Amino acid sequence: MRGPDVPAKALDARGLAALAANPGCSRRALLDGAGVNKAALASALGAPAAFGQSQFALTRGNAFETRVKADGGAVLLRLVREQLDPAAPPPERTYAPDLTAPGPEGRTARTALALREAVAAGGWTLLDHPMLALDVAGSPAFLEPDAVVVHPDGAWTVVEIKSFPMLDGSADPAKVGAAARQAAVYVLALEEVAGRLDPAPTVHHRILLVCPKDFSNLPAACAVDVRKQRAVTARQLSRLTRIEEIADALPAGTCFSPDLPAEQLTAAVEAVPATYAPECLAACELAFHCRDRSRGAGAVTSLGRSTRAELGGLATVEDVLAAARGEAGDPDDPVVAALRRAAALRVEALEGAACR
Ligand code: SF4
Repeated sequence: MRGPDVPAKALDARGLAALAANPGCSRRALLDGAGVNKAALASALGAPAAFGQSQFALTRGNAFETRVKADGGAVLLRLVREQLDPAAPPPERTYAPDLTAPGPEGRTARTALALREAVAAGGWTLLDHPMLALDVAGSPAFLEPDAVVVHPDGAWTVVEIKSFPMLDGSADPAKVGAAARQAAVYVLALEEVAGRLDPAPTVHHRILLVCPKDFSNLPAACAVDVRKQRAVTARQLSRLTRIEEIADALPAGTCFSPDLPAEQLTAAVEAVPATYAPECLAACELAFHCRDRSRGAGAVTSLGRSTRAELGGLATVEDVLAAARGEAGDPDDPVVAALRRAAALRVEALEGAACR
């Protein structure tokens, strides 16, 4: 579906968290499942995405992460102990097993083995960029947390290292929320690995967030409880329609290769149902394309999910206006009645203003 010779775009935890935030969107589920590069697709459709990290931010983030993990992870293990497990003995030595293996499947298997060995060995272990797999709508997504720490009691903690600053011990709540949603995806994937061990190790639902302290390059850390994000993501992922079912409903030969002419590509994308909402603008590369289509169709979803929910069965702006004018709709429907009352009040207000 992504076209011959087009490499698959791996689904990362950030993308998975965004996918889980809009579980009703078959378009995103199918494109992500097929490994389509949505940013390239959006550009080919003439509606390029307007978000993503700059090269400067990526370089700065990588440099900070290297610093946090220096000395075999000694600083990082100390932060985990301080914030999450102060009763545990301090790390006497740092142990960070080699996780290299061919391909994502190989790395996933190597990570599972390293986790099992670390639990059996006891002590502190740092898994630097392990690989985890999570089943998403019937196809595996491979995920790479910044780090996973195994505690002396065998419990596992996800570590997220971010480059936004922690000022006086607190960071931008929106950025912390995004990091928590991302970490919740890793927690779910780790729980799948833990579930295959007997006895199953504990996967902590408090993760460690590490950021630069104030505007320095020194690390500051805080524990973030991701129980709520974990529960929401698990529920949303379980609601995703299976990708095979979506694909079966498409015309044979549907292809999303960015090399195709724009009209052909537009037809392929439009063949897959989408549920646009303004939240897509911050989470999906296709947002500008879907917003144009949604507005063009007069869909009330482009006004926001809460407005959509309040309008009941009225799906387009045209339907809403017709109901308000008394030209359509069941007068016993509370939504229609409320719209007519609002329209009458508006007329009254305008007439009053004209008299004054
Ligand atoms: S932008 Fe489009 S494809 Fe992406 S989640 Fe929203 S509706 Fe779905």
